[in-house]
Amino acid sequence: MLNYNDTLDAVFTFAHEAGHAMHTVLSYANQPFVTSSYTIFVAEVASTTNERFLLEKLLETTTDPKERFLLLQHAVDSIVGTFYTQVLFADFELKAHRLVEQGQPVTAAVLNGIYSGLLKEYYGDSVTVDDLYQHTWTRIPHFYNTPYYVYQYATCFASSAKLFKDMTTGSATAKQAATERYLTLLKSGGNDYPMKQLQKAGVDLTQPATVQAVVEQLDELVSRMETESAKIQP
Ligand SMILES: [Zn+2]
Repeated sequence: MLNYNDTLDAVFTFAHEAGHAMHTVLSYANQPFVTSSYTIFVAEVASTTNERFLLEKLLETTTDPKERFLLLQHAVDSIVGTFYTQVLFADFELKAHRLVEQGQPVTAAVLNGIYSGLLKEYYGDSVTVDDLYQHTWTRIPHFYNTPYYVYQYATCFASSAKLFKDMTTGSATAKQAATERYLTLLKSGGNDYPMKQLQKAGVDLTQPATVQAVVEQLDELVSRMETESAKIQP
């Protein structure tokens, strides 16, 4: 079901889906049937880690500052879309569900109010918020069909950022050990609670530092964009 159309987005989507495929193959090959299926909480780790590997590979193969800038911008956009936006969505969802629990009326106007409040809280005055933005929640299918789904994009993204860092920095022995832990995670299917599976791979989502790593990654990508932008001739 992949509509490959030769664009950069399509290449990244291909890498993303290949991550899911690799996860499934390794889980099925190493787990008995009952624990062969993995949860969503772990699933998007394999896919987003693959996207990160692709980005670094593409950056290695080109010296053209314009192309490098575009690749880095793609990575920054994916952090904004997969991490920051999904955290805001999750916050919105929790607030909406709490209204129901408290017996409060849930109308479109109330939900618009929650959404625009969050936009102000998250973006402050750094982004000009169009009046229409308050309706964004209406077009998110997860809110209607699969409640409490969206926060997992953010937790998965934070996990893959940490795993990628562990597998690509430090001594050769440390990198090798991190890679082994990552492959063990992919082979583990659904054999334990997702948080525990990730902890065994070196990702502790109970620690703020794990989430902070994404913020640092964004910061680093923006610095790299500035470096490339300085090389681009006007
Ligand atoms: Zn996916």
